[in-house]
Amino acid sequence: MKYCNNIIETIGNTPLIRLNSIPKHLSANFYVKAEYFNPGNSIKDRMALKMVEDAESKGLLKKGGTIIEATSGNTGMGLALVAISKGYKCIFTVSDKQSREKIDILRAVGAEVIVCPTNVHPSDPKSYYSVARKLNEEIPNSFYPNQYDNSSNAEAHYLTTGPEIWEQTEGGITHFVAGVGTGGTMCGTSKFLKEKNPSITTVGVDSYGSVFKKYKETGEFDENEIYPYMLEGIGEDILPENVNFELIDHFVKVTDKDAAIYSRRLAREEGLFIGWSCGAAVAGAIDYAERNNLGKDDHVVIILPDHGTRYLNKIYNDNWMKDHGFMEERDFATASDLIK
Ligand code: PMP
Repeated sequence: MKYCNNIIETIGNTPLIRLNSIPKHLSANFYVKAEYFNPGNSIKDRMALKMVEDAESKGLLKKGGTIIEATSGNTGMGLALVAISKGYKCIFTVSDKQSREKIDILRAVGAEVIVCPTNVHPSDPKSYYSVARKLNEEIPNSFYPNQYDNSSNAEAHYLTTGPEIWEQTEGGITHFVAGVGTGGTMCGTSKFLKEKNPSITTVGVDSYGSVFKKYKETGEFDENEIYPYMLEGIGEDILPENVNFELIDHFVKVTDKDAAIYSRRLAREEGLFIGWSCGAAVAGAIDYAERNNLGKDDHVVIILPDHGTRYLNKIYNDNWMKDHGFMEERDFATASDLIK
């Protein structure tokens, strides 16, 4: 009989899919790694499993323990699935800009969720980082994975995402593009790929309102770069230890609007119903390819971190798009308008 012993055995080995419509004006080849095929519908399942298994082997997480994490939702989902299979409890702190769906999903899989304000300094006691840290101090037998600085995060991608891409492209990948949040995906994958072939170019996708691109280019942590933005999962107002700038050759910035438009195009033109940061990653890859004249011998692999269901009330809602100035009134003509 061929079956998985539990849900965590289904993590990883996601498909690599060619983009056929969106980049047809370019001669370079684009492929996306569709991470929503993971059981928690996101790439974060990979690192959630690794952070828990490494904590168990170091004796940091013991039977009946509680996992406490500051998460934008996807890491929480991964941790919740791992916790169910292994018998742990979960408490997550999330910032109040996260999609309602992400919070509901975490509660659906049995986690306790504490919503914290977004627009406070990370060191503020109300920030979702501080609240997670405090709960960890106060709750006995609890473990705070801290995805930002935990090396198991990048290690998961060094051990799984990188080798999968290398095999799926038969070593033919020339460019790797991924959004950067904690940096785990980009830096773990990049480390593996660059060890295999140092001439592979890695491009990190950053949001406006985040410090990464400026820091890479000038070495300056510029507080003026920090302002509110809507994209979820990429960009930061801190420098996580998992971001190793030596492994990221270039950064491109993508607006909330362009990311939303590309996400919707991926759904409609490619049949890839994916999350907002996926649109950002593809927009960033196309922008980079256009500016650098990538051609037919270039094979660009782009990470698509999560699934579209989590954004149904945002980028996939026409009224929300219009209210945010991301879509024009004239884009709204429907069959029912025509028969009025
Ligand atoms: N996109 C989404 C939707 C995410 O949840 C995350 C994780 N923060 C990322 C992109 C970025 O991945 P990483 O944390 O590995 O840099």
